[in-house]
Amino acid sequence: MEPNDTKPILEVKNLHVHYDTGKGPAKAVNDVSFSLRPGERLGLIGESGSGKTTMAMALMRLTKAPGRIASGSVLLDGEDILTMSPRELRAARLRDIALIPQGAMSSLNPVMRLEVQMADAILAHRPEMKKEAVDARIEELLKSVGLTPEVARRFPHELSGGMKQRAVMAIATALTPKVIVADEPTSALDVVVQRQVIQTLGRLQGGLGAAVVLIGHDMGLVAQFADIVGVMYAGKLVEIGPVRAMIEAPKHPYTKLLVDSLPGIKVKQALIGIPGLPPPLVDLPPGCPFNPRCPYVFDRCRSETPEPQTVGPNQLAACHLYPEHAVLPPMPAPSSSGRAPQ
Ligand code: SF4
Repeated sequence: MEPNDTKPILEVKNLHVHYDTGKGPAKAVNDVSFSLRPGERLGLIGESGSGKTTMAMALMRLTKAPGRIASGSVLLDGEDILTMSPRELRAARLRDIALIPQGAMSSLNPVMRLEVQMADAILAHRPEMKKEAVDARIEELLKSVGLTPEVARRFPHELSGGMKQRAVMAIATALTPKVIVADEPTSALDVVVQRQVIQTLGRLQGGLGAAVVLIGHDMGLVAQFADIVGVMYAGKLVEIGPVRAMIEAPKHPYTKLLVDSLPGIKVKQALIGIPGLPPPLVDLPPGCPFNPRCPYVFDRCRSETPEPQTVGPNQLAACHLYPEHAVLPPMPAPSSSGRAPQ
């Protein structure tokens, strides 16, 4: 990642999103902050339930009850999405920030031809556009995602999974948004189509110069696309940094375990999982939320929540091993000494 002095287009500050339950609030997004500049690609990864999709919905202000945005801000080009009036919000969605949702089939209307759905999206923001101009724009958008113009006449059920996902991308980019939030756009697609969809997203993003937040749980796929990777665990952004540093020199023990769980291409080896389960979000352990599973755990981790701190160029990690250590120490043998790794 090159040093970049451009003003951020998206700034998330101390965002908290809770789901109200009978046992108290489940803190699905817990004090998350990050920023993105125009053209930057952030991949957000983590296990199921780590808060990734809740984050995506909050960025669009689409959080539904029993979820609620408890506090924080989401600044889009300096304007807080969370305090916009309904009218401002309607105008900003699609024009300034667009969502590529999970499950393309459920986000397309099954009884409307694609061209009608695309025209609806365009005309909602540009009612003055003439039919010929709308048709030309639809054709241009379909081509931009690798679909032929005749696809516009089809219903969603006449498209393959990959085609549907491309159609959704075409709609999301209809008004050339500045920020694209892609929430697991490759879920339920086979690996070949997954790669094609990610490549299409990359081409679209490059053409628009938009910033992208790509949500995923496949570290390998996200790393192919992103230039910044953020790792979420139990609602916290536990590490964020340039993709190369995150893969080659992760600083947070959870990131390291995620990277180690990737299958190797050159060396055949048994796949290593991360032992244990994420904690319930209504009952987080005291201290670091990763402490019950962390091979590096020591006494402080069980009582004090680590704050994000700089651990490398443009790299932050929330872990008590720093700043004492410059790099992540070798994985310790299981021990109950309660002392920090040496
Ligand atoms: Fe592990 Fe402690 Fe760091 Fe948490 S703060 S990741 S428990 S070493």
